[in-house]
Amino acid sequence: MAIELGSRGIPCLVVERKDRVGYAPRAKTTHTRTREHLRRWGIAEKLAAASPFGVDYPSNVLFVTRLAGHRLHKIENAFSCAPQKTDLYSEHAQWIPQYKLEELFRTHAETLPGVELRFDTEFESCTQDAEGVQSALRDLKTGAAYTVQSDFLVGSDGARSVVRTLIGAKLEGTYGLSRNFNVVFRAPGLAEAHPHGPAIMYWQVNADAPSLIGPMDSGDRWFFMPTGVSEGIKLSNLEAAALIRKATGIDLPYEILSSDEWIASSLIADKYREGRIFLAGDACHLHPPFGGYGMNMGISDAVDLGWKVASVLQGWGGPVLLDSYERERRPVHQLVIEEAVRNHAVLGNQLWRERLEEDGPEGDAARAQVGELIARTKNREFQSLGFVLGCCYQNSPVIAYSGTDPPPQPGPNYHPSAAPGCLAPHLWLSDGRSLYDTFGPGFTLLVIAEYKAKDIVAASTEAAAHGVPLKVEVLTDPRLAELYAAPLILIRPDQHVAWRGDVWPGPGLLDLVAGWPSGRGR
Ligand SMILES: Cc1cc2nc3c(=O)[nH]c(=O)nc-3n(C[C@H](O)[C@H](O)[C@H](O)COP(=O)(O)OP(=O)(O)OC[C@H]3O[C@@H](n4cnc5c(N)ncnc54)[C@H](O)[C@@H]3O)c2cc1C
Repeated sequence: MAIELGSRGIPCLVVERKDRVGYAPRAKTTHTRTREHLRRWGIAEKLAAASPFGVDYPSNVLFVTRLAGHRLHKIENAFSCAPQKTDLYSEHAQWIPQYKLEELFRTHAETLPGVELRFDTEFESCTQDAEGVQSALRDLKTGAAYTVQSDFLVGSDGARSVVRTLIGAKLEGTYGLSRNFNVVFRAPGLAEAHPHGPAIMYWQVNADAPSLIGPMDSGDRWFFMPTGVSEGIKLSNLEAAALIRKATGIDLPYEILSSDEWIASSLIADKYREGRIFLAGDACHLHPPFGGYGMNMGISDAVDLGWKVASVLQGWGGPVLLDSYERERRPVHQLVIEEAVRNHAVLGNQLWRERLEEDGPEGDAARAQVGELIARTKNREFQSLGFVLGCCYQNSPVIAYSGTDPPPQPGPNYHPSAAPGCLAPHLWLSDGRSLYDTFGPGFTLLVIAEYKAKDIVAASTEAAAHGVPLKVEVLTDPRLAELYAAPLILIRPDQHVAWRGDVWPGPGLLDLVAGWPSGRGR
């Protein structure tokens, strides 16, 4: 949020009660869409450089009985992490610990004029009025309490959000789908001690400890995630090490670095906003982490809200833009929560069968059967570009729908569509540039082939008159005509299609997409 605002010249303050970023070694999947945001911010290459094993490291997901056991199924190029160029996206995904991404965000945010990060600072409460939001903060080092006045407040304060409580939002859904642990440990020699070859994660399907395990960082750091553990189980370091030994079947000295319990839930806030106060990220949606949606969704929330808040503060964005945040993001969260719950329903716990570890034909038959079951139920968890890139905003008050070109039904497969509300379909242009790199920081009028000069003049004149930042980009690549199916396409600052058509329809369009209620002046 601070990066999106700061790169648009909007000053902002981030308060964080901890003394630094990166305490929770949780997410490891940075989706393609998130890296596309990083590309727009100019830091995707820095994330690649921070990769502990290099971006070429094979993003295989292996299902095995245990690290020392039999292989059941292999998925390659999970999450589209392979650094290959395809027209579907401008950036591949990346397997990297969340704390490394957070550190990159911190260092980048600190370079942006007007952005201030204040650690060791607790947000305690707030009030709001017509002038803005007054937040009560406390310096945790000195104990000093003080108040900060801001135009807006975004509660990105996680699952136990205080801001959520303060605005009276309630979480709806199911708490406690399962109990699990996330253990981070050091184990020199583990990568060489098993026969399965490199992978980003190994799902261990056995009766002792159904779990995920995988390399996490340089220095022989690994993660181990026993899933579906019983209520009341505690894991001391000694017990965690013993469990890793048992689950893997590999006897090594395991040095436990951290061990966290985490609860899988499917919860969504009943509202995301009260006046000048918004919720983003885990504060308003919580899903099981299978599919890697949580952090990635939160970053896209910040992008959606960030350009809208910036435009309002710059004076060209109207109030409906702020209303559109929840109308756009909440249905996407609902869809993704459903998908994550579906993924969570089949873990190692559910895949285990008698005889799975037996040598000989009966064991072979059991493994073949389970391998088939995994292919049927788990492939889509790792090949889910449709949920990462294909979530269209279908009920937004700031998108000009034609009424005749509905977006494709959401699903795991990505079908690029230029229907209003969808992410603009990507293409590598013949000169090697990403189509997205031609877009401006504000709106972009993409002009393809058979256009009329008077439309461009009208759009530019109206945008200038209304102060709406608009870049006109004329491109002649014939593949674009096929992909976009219209000569004029209006792209938003977040790269979603706001409108497409044959003829520029007049100033009402800019009013609508910039969030001004119809019939009202600015
Ligand atoms: C095991 C596991 C694996 C995961 N894997 C993935 C994955 O691969 N991909 C993915 O996308 N997601 C994954 N997630 C989810 C991801 O970790 C979260 O969705 C993400 O961290 C949410 O980010 P956030 O900023 O909304 O909240 P948080 O990360 O919880 O950050 C909130 C911050 O606010 C601070 N804070 C809270 N209250 C206050 C206050 N009153 N004053 C000051 N500061 C405050 C906290 O200290 C914290 O730093 C995983 C989660 C788990 C449990």
